[in-house]
Amino acid sequence: MIIILGAGIIGLSIGYDLLKKGKKVKIFDSSTIKAKSTNASIGMLAPLIEAKPLEKKLFKLMSASKLIWEKLQQNKNFSQTIGLKNNSSLMVALNKDDEEKLKFKKSFFETLGYNPVFLTKNETLRREPLLNSNVTASLFCKKQDQVNPILYRDFLIKEILRMKGKIVNEKIIKKITIKKNKIFFNEKSLNFDKVIISCGAWSNEIIYNSFGIKFPTRPLKGISLTLKAPLIKFNHNLWFRNIYIAQRDNGILAVGATEEEKGFDNSVRMDELFFLTNSLWESLPKLEDISLNEIKVGLRPAVFDGNPIIGPLQEVSQDIICSFGHYRNGILLAPITSQIISQYILEENITKEYKFFSPNRFNL
Ligand SMILES: Cc1cc2nc3c(=O)[nH]c(=O)nc-3n(C[C@H](O)[C@H](O)[C@H](O)COP(=O)(O)OP(=O)(O)OC[C@H]3O[C@@H](n4cnc5c(N)ncnc54)[C@H](O)[C@@H]3O)c2cc1C
Repeated sequence: MIIILGAGIIGLSIGYDLLKKGKKVKIFDSSTIKAKSTNASIGMLAPLIEAKPLEKKLFKLMSASKLIWEKLQQNKNFSQTIGLKNNSSLMVALNKDDEEKLKFKKSFFETLGYNPVFLTKNETLRREPLLNSNVTASLFCKKQDQVNPILYRDFLIKEILRMKGKIVNEKIIKKITIKKNKIFFNEKSLNFDKVIISCGAWSNEIIYNSFGIKFPTRPLKGISLTLKAPLIKFNHNLWFRNIYIAQRDNGILAVGATEEEKGFDNSVRMDELFFLTNSLWESLPKLEDISLNEIKVGLRPAVFDGNPIIGPLQEVSQDIICSFGHYRNGILLAPITSQIISQYILEENITKEYKFFSPNRFNL
């Protein structure tokens, strides 16, 4: 039996993959935890736009995961079910300063082997006629796509249950104890082969309480919005200086996101709302035709070096496997993460590139 702690996008993708490979899976999650990251995320699948100069290994990991998403995209029915689109991205400039930044981005993206296209104002408005006339230019980035994380999450839950996996609503797990092949938490005792810790921003607390090991992780709070905009239809994902927008199929725009160091605070603060609405006001015309649908708060699980933690917690046991710290890209990284975790569990060969993400990179 594989025990998975945490049913965010990471725990669910791992459970789904393992069930497909014939393993028995039980997932434990607490519905009382607020600000789960998956629920607030936008679902941009954009390794290039998310790339940073000093994060080469992460860029490779994101690109490998994007390739898996592209294979999945070939199944049209499945893509429709989970809102997986190949709609590409436009990074939009609203003034000279933005334009210069986009030119700099373009040369950086070229060093990564991509060739984004710089578009003039007219070319931009031809692609996106509903953009504000104050746009000055844009950068067209092919294959920087999107999925609807809520539809994907719901798909995974349905499939896991159909394949006879179990998803248990549990009290908050503070601590686990392992004795031989038994795991104990919340007065439960279960036999297990492997246990996977995928509790997002809360993973570290469980590991520290259980084994006294502390990873350099922290929550990074993010607020996102969904808006009802029945009269608007954008053809691409749009990235402005402060916000990004994903057009969903049903007249909804998903807008992300703030990013703040506020510990485990899960409230919506007025300055955060102001930041988003002010950026929207700068970026889009006709805000009077757009109404608020939902405000969401999520705590991104961030690691000090920007990379996720994927691999066995060898200091304690080969059978305890970490899978958290996916920070801003957990939706994008879900397919490659579950592939790597399956390789650990099935004791397959794991490439050096993927071993890098294991807990061993820290001096624990
Ligand atoms: C505003 C915002 C926008 C984002 N946009 C994007 C995007 O466009 N593209 C992208 O790729 N990523 C995006 N992300 C990042 C992405 O959401 C995360 O990287 C990803 O969701 C992490 O998934 P997870 O399963 O590790 O964590 P979570 O989704 O937080 O799930 C953790 C799960 O563990 C459970 N849990 C935690 N502690 C316990 C406990 N003690 N006991 C029991 N259960 C517990 C929780 O209930 C939860 O269900 C965004 C994040 C935010 C906040």
